[in-house]
Amino acid sequence: MEVKKLLDDSSQYIMDTYKRFPVVFIKGRGMKLWSADGKEYLDFMAGIAVNILGHCHPRHVVAIQKQAQKLVHISNLYHNEYQIKLAKLLCDYSFADKIFFSNSGAEANEAAIKLARKHSKERFGAEKTGIITALNSFHGRTIATLTATGQPKLQSGFDPLTPGFSHVPFNDYEALKSAIDENTCAIMLEPIQGEGGVKMPSTDYFKHVRDLCTRLGILLIFDEIQTGTGRTGTLFAYEQYGIEPDILTLAKGLGGGFPIGATLARDEVAKTFTQGSHGSTFGGNPLACAVALATIETLLEDGIMLSECRRMGEYFMESLIKLQKQFPKVITDVRGRGLLIGMELTRECAMVAQACFERGILINCTAGNTLRFMPPLIVTEEDIDRLISVLKDILERLS
Ligand SMILES: *Cc1c(COP(=O)(O)O)cnc(C)c1O
Repeated sequence: MEVKKLLDDSSQYIMDTYKRFPVVFIKGRGMKLWSADGKEYLDFMAGIAVNILGHCHPRHVVAIQKQAQKLVHISNLYHNEYQIKLAKLLCDYSFADKIFFSNSGAEANEAAIKLARKHSKERFGAEKTGIITALNSFHGRTIATLTATGQPKLQSGFDPLTPGFSHVPFNDYEALKSAIDENTCAIMLEPIQGEGGVKMPSTDYFKHVRDLCTRLGILLIFDEIQTGTGRTGTLFAYEQYGIEPDILTLAKGLGGGFPIGATLARDEVAKTFTQGSHGSTFGGNPLACAVALATIETLLEDGIMLSECRRMGEYFMESLIKLQKQFPKVITDVRGRGLLIGMELTRECAMVAQACFERGILINCTAGNTLRFMPPLIVTEEDIDRLISVLKDILERLS
């Protein structure tokens, strides 16, 4: 394969919406990826918190192969076994009673927004449509989810945006309380802000938010597209806050790399979606659901992967904190939960990610100055040690 020719054709034929590393990947296995020019990489990106089982996990591969031979797509005008089984599994393990399936995170959030609005209008009247989200949040790139996303730099150029959204600082209960009025229908938050730089809430923030929502008849929507499906050490991050949302969205890790999104809700809310009120041609197709079912069953089997995620998360954090002690002038904070970890620097982090890439390790730089680590949940101590030693080397050269 002529890599240079491919990269040239990429810039000629593909819209330039991503700042990409100059590499073409052709193969993956577990924590490793291989490029077309034969280099090996250790993957702490997991396709942005997607490949929770690692690359080409045997059970993932078999699920795709088996289902591809049987049935790929029908239509939601008919039933398919795997959509039903996946919905039941997610309900059994969560607060939710019912699920709507789609194909991506943005779509899952679109469904959540539509569901919240229709529910509140029917229950409280036509004016109750306001949705409050957090500054620095990320909820997707469609017009409504982009409006929900509290980052003006991502919205710039795309107005007019969707009416009815407002933003408040994350983890600031008083600001949230004062932003609420009689027309507020929902509050939509990430349990941990992922794209925003792995920003953590304080211990009781969500308890207070939950109480407020319950008292005022406001729906609490948790966007767990990044934090869900085991990423933080429990199947859902909300479990660790001692509260339950009314609506929850999933995507990224749900299919272990196969595209699928899901909107989960309590029965009382879910029943607002009546026949014809929402839909998706591809959403919940047999292939996506069979693969997601195999992914989540593998994740939950004996609880091993989740407990390993917690154990490796602790080991990872401890290792990064040791590194912080060695480079206190460069590293200002290490934070996270499970295997969603951020390390904030006093400087731009893109060049550190670039240096790691050159040394064969994929990491992410987000929010300008925060390195974000979100490896497959099968990561080992050895993998983490290797990353730490490369980071140490890079930071030594920098200082
Ligand atoms: C990635 C992400 C989304 C958007 O998901 P897409 O599949 O890219 O549409 C929404 N919310 C959160 C928290 C995310 O991390």
